[in-house]
Amino acid sequence: MRRNLVIGNWKMHGDIQRNQLLLEKIVDGLRELNHADYVVCVPNIYIFQARALLENTNIAWGGQNVNQFEEGAFTGAIAPHMLTDLGCTYVILGHSERRNLFFETNLTAAARFDAAIRAGLTPVFCVGETLEEHEAGLTEVIVASQMDAVMATLSDADFAKAMAVNMVFAYEPVWAIGTGKTATPQQAQSVHQFIRHRIARRNPDAAAKVRIIYGGSVKAHNAADLFAMPDVDGGLIGGASLLADEFIAICQAANSVASSTCLMELT
Ligand code: PEP
Repeated sequence: MRRNLVIGNWKMHGDIQRNQLLLEKIVDGLRELNHADYVVCVPNIYIFQARALLENTNIAWGGQNVNQFEEGAFTGAIAPHMLTDLGCTYVILGHSERRNLFFETNLTAAARFDAAIRAGLTPVFCVGETLEEHEAGLTEVIVASQMDAVMATLSDADFAKAMAVNMVFAYEPVWAIGTGKTATPQQAQSVHQFIRHRIARRNPDAAAKVRIIYGGSVKAHNAADLFAMPDVDGGLIGGASLLADEFIAICQAANSVASSTCLMELT
């Protein structure tokens, strides 16, 4: 059985004072929630602060992107070992904002995926279609091409490494990110199932284990219905991760869906 996973993506938000208040409230709110996993991905410059406040809690921290090279003349870039140096265990890759605003391609995202797993980081690889693609009925074509960019570059040894670090996929329809429009639970389930089948073509055991989380205007009021879908294993949360009460409520939804599934399996 897969544990739910909730990841907060702070994007380019925060300052030392606000971060401290937010993290302290989240630590407090999640302390007793032991049936799911929680992560916050903060701006690089605040990773030090996140580490200081999250060490010895049940919340992990991570980066929002990473470069594929280990070191060198890459002004402004962060290498995978720099994230692990600061205790990061997760890194978001291929986010649509990186693709659309910073012109990162499938190839770049795939190279970064490879670099991340080699460094022992858990990649959270984002896939998802734009509104035009959605309306043209191209969702599966686009998601397949984004996934294949990664899957096709992984040797069997690297695929095993990706499984060892518990790679995560995030289905994030671009039309739902920051727009207040959410995919219905049924829409999310259908794409998540498609993603799982795609992984199963490579390795059925891996497909059963991989966590596929949903992102796109997840809020406290819609989280439980999304997380109740059989192939939705939690959420990647943007805007709502900056509001302690909202984020805690989303984590509570993930925690209780997971625990009720546990009970069902035991009875
Ligand atoms: C995101 O940026 O990954 C995201 C899902 O944002 P939001 O929750 O604000 O739609």
